Amino acid sequence: MIVPPVSNALDPYGGRRVSLATCHGKERALARPFHRGLDLTVVVATGFDTDQLGTFSGERSRPADARQTCRQKAEAGMDHTGLDLGLPSEGSFGPHPSFPWLAVNQEWLTFVDRRAGLVIADSLLANRTNFEHRVVSPGDDIEAWLRRVGFPSHGLIVRPHLGDASGEAPVIKGVRTARALAEALGRCAGASIDGRARLETDMRAHCNPTRLGVIRTLAFRLVRRIARRCPECAAPGWGPGEGLAGLPCGWCGLPTPRLRADVRECVACDHRQERPRRDGRRTADPGDCPRCNP
Ligand SMILES: [Zn+2]
Ligand SMILES: [Zn+2]
Repeated sequence: MIVPPVSNALDPYGGRRVSLATCHGKERALARPFHRGLDLTVVVATGFDTDQLGTFSGERSRPADARQTCRQKAEAGMDHTGLDLGLPSEGSFGPHPSFPWLAVNQEWLTFVDRRAGLVIADSLLANRTNFEHRVVSPGDDIEAWLRRVGFPSHGLIVRPHLGDASGEAPVIKGVRTARALAEALGRCAGASIDGRARLETDMRAHCNPTRLGVIRTLAFRLVRRIARRCPECAAPGWGPGEGLAGLPCGWCGLPTPRLRADVRECVACDHRQERPRRDGRRTADPGDCPRCNP
């Protein structure tokens, strides 16, 4: 019988290396939490084009949703580095699911242990994001907008508003100086059928300190989860699972889509624990009830 060394059983990741497939400088947010919390060294899978797996700027469509993309990135990064630990990260931006006038940034971070067959994932929905776009003509006063989206500490992407008369639509990314912006604006507006350019916030991590901060917060959270052991089988990654819907309506008692319990679960075995909601709520607002507020 092969008995793993005791230190390994207690600390399966100490001193090991984990591959990160990124062209966008995410190691700046991830290296420290993983090193401090788990003694893991983040190795960037260099020369590896993560854009093959879809990009934010839209010139290549995403092959799958973020979770799926995360998984593909992990496999590709591990194949590339020959390591059996992978750390894919993926983000999306758009309207808040409940408050569509607010922009949100959802980040996913996944830790894949190929040898043990474990996938430990966490995600974070952040209201703090500069995600925005605007169509402008050369000469428009956009100072206030630029301040709001954090330019120039945060980069911009510039493209023609309506197609490209010449057939080769320029997309200029990572614009971070007033001069580069003026040039890009002139070029893209000139190429657009209506003479206008579309400005977008560049959400790639290395161009967006706000997003990098969200990824860092999520990294600390995932590190804490990886360090927590399942009380039943001792596998790493004990943490929140899908919450249970069905908090009863405060008027009629019918189950609502609101969560009635927090769930913690193991990523390796079937063990799970249900706890009452942390905020102590026992009933849902009738506004959330399908019968009282159809
Ligand atoms: Zn377990
Ligand atoms: Zn009701």
